[in-house]
Amino acid sequence: MRVDVLAIGAHPDDVELTCGGTLVKLKQLGYRFGIVDLTRGEMGTRGTPEIRAKEAQRAAEILGAEFREALDLGDGGLRRGREEELIVIDVIRRERPRLVLTPYPDDRHPDHRRAGQLVTDACYYAGTRKLETQHPAHRPQQTVYFSTFDSRRPEFLVDVTDVIETRRAAMRAFESQFHKEGSTEPATILAQKTFLEVIEARAREFGMMINVEFAEGFLANRPPRIPDLVQAFEGSEPGF
Ligand SMILES: [Zn+2]
Repeated sequence: MRVDVLAIGAHPDDVELTCGGTLVKLKQLGYRFGIVDLTRGEMGTRGTPEIRAKEAQRAAEILGAEFREALDLGDGGLRRGREEELIVIDVIRRERPRLVLTPYPDDRHPDHRRAGQLVTDACYYAGTRKLETQHPAHRPQQTVYFSTFDSRRPEFLVDVTDVIETRRAAMRAFESQFHKEGSTEPATILAQKTFLEVIEARAREFGMMINVEFAEGFLANRPPRIPDLVQAFEGSEPGF
């Protein structure tokens, strides 16, 4: 069974921290989604690849993913040569997603940047019929970007207010990465006590833009088609 949406991050947890709520919403609408991590997170300061793999599977179950798969393209130096491109092309062809979600190809972390570029190019080449891999050609309708570290002004927003608890639970599945009282593991940005609050503050800020409590923001190379312009802005301004 193929998926409608494929979320492809650089590291295990990229997806949960940026678009987990949107994936849960899509599932509620009857769409199937899968998650692919381009690396196993082996360079992460905290945890081990084995622990992170277990946490990632748990998070995927909480979100309701059809599957989660980790490629091994090199954490902390993500490779994006032809060999890696062909691996990603074949995953896209195998799953035949209608949309691919991936990091915006401009970010502080080079792995996120490279992931965004690699996936964007792979989505295009996946549709080239004369390029032969194990599976037949398929080009997703669009590559949609989520912002990882750097906050960008989103072009469109998804209201995730009613699934915020599921989003939180999926993030908390990555226990080894986040703050734990009394931990002797090295300090990291993610392990700061306030990190998850900062992530949630971003969702609140995005939510405020559309007059809901929480939202996730996206960009795309092409704008989305809006069937009902009035409805799209319904409730944006309280009509006092
Ligand atoms: Zn990451």
